[in-house]
Amino acid sequence: MKRIIYIPFDHLHRKFGAMKDADPKTDLIAFVESARMTTGRNWHKERLFFLISSARHFAASLEEEGFTVEYVKAATTVDGLKTIQKKHKLTEIICAEPSSFRQYDQLKEFGVTFVDNDFFLTPRPLFISWASEQKNYLMENFYRKQRTRLNILMDGKEPVGGAWNFDKENRLPPPKKYEGPAYLEHKRDVIDHEVAKELGHTITTTWATTRKGALAQMSNFFNHHFAEFGPLEDAMTTDNWALHHSLLSPYINNNVIHPSEVIHAAMKAFNTGKVPIESAEGFIRQVIGWREYVNGMYWFLGPDYRDNNQLNATKKLLPLFSDPSKTQMNCIKETVTDIQSRAWVHHIPRLMLLSNLALITGTNPQAFLDWMREVFIDASEWVMVPNVIGMGVHADGGQMMTKPYAAGGAYISRMSNYCKPCVYNPKLRTGETACPFTTLYWDFLDRHKESFAKNHRMSQQVFGLNRLSDLPELRERAQEVLDGFEKGMI
Ligand SMILES: Cc1cc2nc3c(=O)[nH]c(=O)nc-3n(C[C@H](O)[C@H](O)[C@H](O)COP(=O)(O)OP(=O)(O)OC[C@H]3O[C@@H](n4cnc5c(N)ncnc54)[C@H](O)[C@@H]3O)c2cc1C
Ligand code: SF4
Repeated sequence: MKRIIYIPFDHLHRKFGAMKDADPKTDLIAFVESARMTTGRNWHKERLFFLISSARHFAASLEEEGFTVEYVKAATTVDGLKTIQKKHKLTEIICAEPSSFRQYDQLKEFGVTFVDNDFFLTPRPLFISWASEQKNYLMENFYRKQRTRLNILMDGKEPVGGAWNFDKENRLPPPKKYEGPAYLEHKRDVIDHEVAKELGHTITTTWATTRKGALAQMSNFFNHHFAEFGPLEDAMTTDNWALHHSLLSPYINNNVIHPSEVIHAAMKAFNTGKVPIESAEGFIRQVIGWREYVNGMYWFLGPDYRDNNQLNATKKLLPLFSDPSKTQMNCIKETVTDIQSRAWVHHIPRLMLLSNLALITGTNPQAFLDWMREVFIDASEWVMVPNVIGMGVHADGGQMMTKPYAAGGAYISRMSNYCKPCVYNPKLRTGETACPFTTLYWDFLDRHKESFAKNHRMSQQVFGLNRLSDLPELRERAQEVLDGFEKGMI
């Protein structure tokens, strides 16, 4: 053996990263399950189970291929690597560039040699050169460039279907009693049971832990859900936990599937003629647009970006985030319960329920970010930081998004079936049965009206606020709601 190839738990692809040039005759493959990763925080067990079992399955597949694999448990990644170096009398360690600033710095300091991170469709230097030329970092501008550069959904220089974006068609509320096609259940094997036992986790069948299972999930999505993906993309319903979302983020994020494989499969399905453009475009925008943009922004904005708190939000994390019995708000109770079961909800509950609530209650962005990182199956640092700090709670003063995603109960009522059985009324902003979202939406605008008045994209909302005749009662109710949250009584 000549060198060690270190595989972080989100580099699990044979054909990308450091593995693409690996040779069983010369390369020893190293995996480290660090205590920092497993016990360092209050991680959702489903998330740990998924990450560890996927890594162990990948390690086993490399052994089957003839590689010598060392899978060690250690206090830290560096400790684990030192043990492997010593045991095999090897010094050189190769790794693809890690996906977070912290791991990048640690491994660099330890002397690891990096090869390019090709787990995304956009090389980091290319994104940085795009961002450096922008006045503002509009995702839509980046996305159009991506479509042209990658030649996806293009008809020469023009977008297929005559428009770049079909978002307006993709905002339907959920149909009544909507079941839709069944989602895949994933079979478990010896490795899964071993990991679940070590973690004290009750095994579920929601997430695949092998490439075969992840590919089956991908086929299931393209065969049974892709055509309907677009129109119901933003809808929320208690009748169906995933609607037509792909459930592919965990596998693309730990790189069991490369995004180019997802795009290839999407285009193949679209070219059959059975998938409407609004669904195809909507999905492709998420993968080549949002996902790549968020990763690019993480590296462009730098390691201090995560500490932003430009709205000076100081409240502790509300008890209802970790315990759904601490709220009567039906939307939040259902969402947090879903997260506890599967470590997943789609982008609208993440944005318009959880982040919106953190934003309008003035919850400290870092406390909220930490919670989001711990509970979601797909929560890598690079993706959670921009999504939460920039998009979710507007803690960056508008570097990423021109205005905050704050909304009252009317939006949630339109886009879900949560409100009918709720004790609160989305139309009311004052009084005991007023929807907390509606009350706090106005109160949030009121608290920040001076800075928002300078933002022309917020002028309509501030104008609406100035026309309210019941501001004193509203402020009083908002205070009751904020106090009630802390006691778990709202
Ligand atoms: C506040 C907030 C936090 C989020 N945190 C994460 C996170 O930690 N990890 C994560 O992977 N996604 C995150 N997202 C994006 C999005 O919610 C998830 O990618 C999506 O819900 C995953 O389910 P899916 O695979 O069924 O997605 P689909 O709806 O089927 O979308 C397809 C793919 O597009 C990509 N995608 C879509 N939107 C985004 C986005 N905003 N950022 C990055 N990728 C995107 C994902 O890879 C996803 O698999 C967050 C969004 C918000 C608003
Ligand atoms: S009324 Fe308000 S709190 Fe209740 S479900 Fe609707 S949005 Fe949520």
